[in-house]
Amino acid sequence: MLKGVGVSNGIVIGKVVRFAQKPMTVTQRTVTDTDAEKRRFGNAVGEFCVRTSALAKRMDTSAADGQILRGYIAMVNDPYLTEHVDKMIDGGATAEMAIESACDGFIRLFTDSADELVRHRAADIEDIKRRMLEILLGVEHVDLSDLPKNTVLVTNELTPSMTVGLESSGVRGIIAEKGGRTSHAAIIARSLGIPTVLGVSGAFEKLSDGEKVALDGETGEIYTDKEAGFKRLQEKEKTSKQDKQELFASFFGRSSLTADGEKIKLLANIDSPRDIDALLKNDAEGVGLFRTEGFFLDRGVLPSEDEQTKAYRAVAEAMQGKEVVIRTLDVGGDKKIPTVRSENEDNPFLGLRAIRYSIKNQGLFRTQLRAVLRASAFGNISLMIPLVTRVDELIYVKNLLNRLKSELDSEGIAYDKSIKVGVMIETPAAAAIADILARNADFFSIGTNDLIGYTMAVDRGNANVSYLYSAYEPAVLRQIRHIVRVAAEQGIKCSLCGEMAADERFLPLLLSFGLKELSVSPQNVLPLRARLSTLEMSRCNEIANDVMKLERARRVEHYLAEV
Ligand code: PEP
Ligand code: MG
Repeated sequence: MLKGVGVSNGIVIGKVVRFAQKPMTVTQRTVTDTDAEKRRFGNAVGEFCVRTSALAKRMDTSAADGQILRGYIAMVNDPYLTEHVDKMIDGGATAEMAIESACDGFIRLFTDSADELVRHRAADIEDIKRRMLEILLGVEHVDLSDLPKNTVLVTNELTPSMTVGLESSGVRGIIAEKGGRTSHAAIIARSLGIPTVLGVSGAFEKLSDGEKVALDGETGEIYTDKEAGFKRLQEKEKTSKQDKQELFASFFGRSSLTADGEKIKLLANIDSPRDIDALLKNDAEGVGLFRTEGFFLDRGVLPSEDEQTKAYRAVAEAMQGKEVVIRTLDVGGDKKIPTVRSENEDNPFLGLRAIRYSIKNQGLFRTQLRAVLRASAFGNISLMIPLVTRVDELIYVKNLLNRLKSELDSEGIAYDKSIKVGVMIETPAAAAIADILARNADFFSIGTNDLIGYTMAVDRGNANVSYLYSAYEPAVLRQIRHIVRVAAEQGIKCSLCGEMAADERFLPLLLSFGLKELSVSPQNVLPLRARLSTLEMSRCNEIANDVMKLERARRVEHYLAEV
């Protein structure tokens, strides 16, 4: 048996493929044209940034977060590093000698640190050094995404850039000789859900290509098929898969409670009545966000009032009295809808989007509001307004809604007279005037997908800055905590419906902030209910207490990965 540190849970049976990074040799020579050499280094840095952005983007499309790789871009542009390189080149060193020496300096510094977290950053610098040298020496970067099915990758050191594409490759498990729980490779392996054992000394020599192994990413045990432990892990794998499915299924029909009995409501986000089946199968406790853009997409004509009424009614009826929050059209920004004429804007995210568009296009907005009102006679429907930045928008909608209610009264059409109107808090402006909005709204729903972007002033699609798009940022966490506090002070309900709600790592924080409602994709409801049942509020409060003292997103990320 081999043993290391299990850093990403799960049992895997697969065939070994060994991969060792080839050592890079830097030839010592002296340069005379130092300006040309500095330009050469500058070009390599430029190429490094382009390649790293592309890798990070690829990683974004997986379950992992490309932010770790985007951190490399900041590191390679670190003034301390570039100054060191410049000085060395001035002294006659080549660009590759200079970057090697600068990185080795950092690696020594980090390796000697007493802090495990800092020690593991040495692996990142090693990764940067290798990839800079590949560029400067013209060596091709090895892509591991083509490895055959059921591969257990055995390597000396797993670096973040090696993990790109692994999710869609044949790699089912990873064994590396170096690394530990807090290394970036471990964090990525966990987000990709690839069972991984790190710190297995001698693995490369002791295992051979093609050999069948079983590894346990929790206990860190590794067995070849000649050992008795292999069969035991095989059995354990079978039951753990079933157990997980059974565990989630066992939460069907149960209340969403923390271990100490705090009641949380788990609602679901949907796009159309086609999602009703998923809502019921996953036991959603309501619809926290019904995105209505779906009706307007891919059609030659705008949906009529009747069509919309039918769709909203179908969902409300299927939910049998459970709440259904219908959000008015959120056109613009990233949501381009062909039937809805939008102007060409230089900054569509800062332009005529969402409620701003609806206010300017009253015909379309009236149709939607009338449809929501009419459907409200058949269930527990609330109305929600996206991208609010000032209270005037909310007042405008409420006034229009009152006029439409009178219209329906005179037409003898039924609707819910006390239909609730809420706002999405997804801009820093809305967060700043949360108290004013709360006095005028029935509920809040925090849209972290947009709130992160607008708070950090970052366009996620722009590779140069997208490393800033992160819910770990203290700026984002403080906004969320503030919004929830204000809602509680003003006595209105507050939920969170951005993607962050489904990320279990944030769950203790969100609970501690006081959130009692989360809205996630239907398939996340039962796993989240299961996770909730393991959390105690006192522990959540301790975690939040620690996290809110941290000043840097990276520290927050590591802390939450650990707990
Ligand atoms: C959000 O911004 O968090 C949100 C839920 O809305 P959308 O993703 O549709 O913009
Ligand atoms: Mg949004």
